[in-house]
Amino acid sequence: MPPAPPPVTDVLLIGGGPAALALAAALAPQGLSVRVVAPHPPRTPAPTYGAWLDDLPAWAQGCAAQVWSDVRVYTGPAPTPLLRPYGLLDNARLLRALLDRTGDALTWTVGQVRGAQREGDAWTVHGAGGEHWPARVVVDASGHAPALRRPQHPGGAALQTAYGVVGRFARPPCAPGSMVWMDYRTPHGPEGDATFLYAMHLGGDRYFVEETSLIARPAPSRAWLRARLAARLAAQGTPLAHTETEEWVAFPMNAAAPAPSGPLAYGAAGGLVHPISGFQVAGALNMAPQVAGALAGALRAGADPHAAGWAALWSPERRAARAVHLLGVQALLNLPPQALPAFFGAFFALPPAQWRAFLAPDTPAGPLARTMLRLFAALPGRVRLPLARAALAQPGTSVQALAASLKGPSGPSHPQAGWARHPGPMTNPDHADHTIRRHEDTDQHEVIEDGMQGATGSTDANGLDQGADLAEKVRELRENLGGGPE
Ligand SMILES: Cc1cc2nc3c(=O)[nH]c(=O)nc-3n(C[C@H](O)[C@H](O)[C@H](O)COP(=O)(O)OP(=O)(O)OC[C@H]3O[C@@H](n4cnc5c(N)ncnc54)[C@H](O)[C@@H]3O)c2cc1C
Repeated sequence: MPPAPPPVTDVLLIGGGPAALALAAALAPQGLSVRVVAPHPPRTPAPTYGAWLDDLPAWAQGCAAQVWSDVRVYTGPAPTPLLRPYGLLDNARLLRALLDRTGDALTWTVGQVRGAQREGDAWTVHGAGGEHWPARVVVDASGHAPALRRPQHPGGAALQTAYGVVGRFARPPCAPGSMVWMDYRTPHGPEGDATFLYAMHLGGDRYFVEETSLIARPAPSRAWLRARLAARLAAQGTPLAHTETEEWVAFPMNAAAPAPSGPLAYGAAGGLVHPISGFQVAGALNMAPQVAGALAGALRAGADPHAAGWAALWSPERRAARAVHLLGVQALLNLPPQALPAFFGAFFALPPAQWRAFLAPDTPAGPLARTMLRLFAALPGRVRLPLARAALAQPGTSVQALAASLKGPSGPSHPQAGWARHPGPMTNPDHADHTIRRHEDTDQHEVIEDGMQGATGSTDANGLDQGADLAEKVRELRENLGGGPE
């Protein structure tokens, strides 16, 4: 007798990465049954996942392996302190926390999804081994090369690539105690693509160092990035003494909003990678409850759950914001490599609320477009010209971005309140100081004090707990800014 078909699951999630599990954990409290189909049993993700601490939901902040308050960028010889704590996730702890939250609602099936078919309101998902799994809702969360969905990348996929190493160093490759979000200095010579160092002090003589190409089409290769990292470390007199682990990063950054039809797409499969930073994990953790609520609500009401999930993810505001971000991508792709440090120098000289909002996954199109226009006005001429060319080369996107900027702050069409991560002044540049300072004129200490002033909500403008001893943080940061290999 053939085996009985498996019972109908409420939601079948394709993939066992952070996006699928974030959604599984949010679906369980809705009383829905969940099946994850992935080629592997539950396993700790390998990548070094980093996130701004204040971008993570409160429960996930407890999954940070390490948090840095000294976070800096170098777009010239001197560091710019970002005054926003940054965390490295403990992936094993994150996995445990997500599985604990799903509890008994989750069935984990090891398998490889090959296709899915819809008959009326029911779906059957097909496995490579001939399996059939019936489900009421299908979510493709199978990563950057999705099992069912075909993401669109306007003009072709533009990739983020990086080569990183966790290792031991006789001399610190970045300031001890610090996290370097972006170091565009080129001790190894400026030739070729502009890449930057992303680095974290992990304690003692352990560091994570990664040579990163933010976005490029075509993208630099692993071998080239590896050689460049070695050259950088050698030139600054801090060669790697011992390699513990290596990581290779390569994924598309410029996905358009997916179409509303078919299975719902989530995580990297659903275009949720931030087109400017490449971040996705914090966004997937944050958005999951809202998407789960939409799916559960539609199932209860007898409405189309896939349409409801898509609408929760891709409101008109969010689609317009994606168009603005894609314009930003086009601009970055058009910039000559040597102009990137000046571009990011001007970017991080913007009032903190503005650059943070630009990097947030959920900022509406209006503030995004206005930030872009302010940034454009602040850029040196040699950077502004290629940017203008980029905008003119994309008339459709430019018009949308401009229209969005003229519309002003979002009205009632903006998604539910829970969508906005940083209410009030933190995401609304209209409340912020609009003066754009040239990076060269910025006094680092002034920036520190400045950032400390706009305290709102339960964390201040730097993302620090209000209870934190700010004087001590400033002291710690000043001391640390004097350190490092330079
Ligand atoms: C090395 C690296 C470092 C990164 N660092 C960061 C970072 O610091 N911060 C950040 O926010 N983002 C980072 N990203 C970007 C992005 O957040 C990650 O790629 C993230 O893992 C995407 O999560 P996901 O769950 O959508 O997809 P994945 O993590 O790629 O998970 C996809 C899952 O689907 C499964 N799968 C694939 N095909 C099938 C199939 N046919 N059937 C069933 N299952 C399938 C896979 O086995 C896997 O379980 C990084 C990416 C890489 C590659």
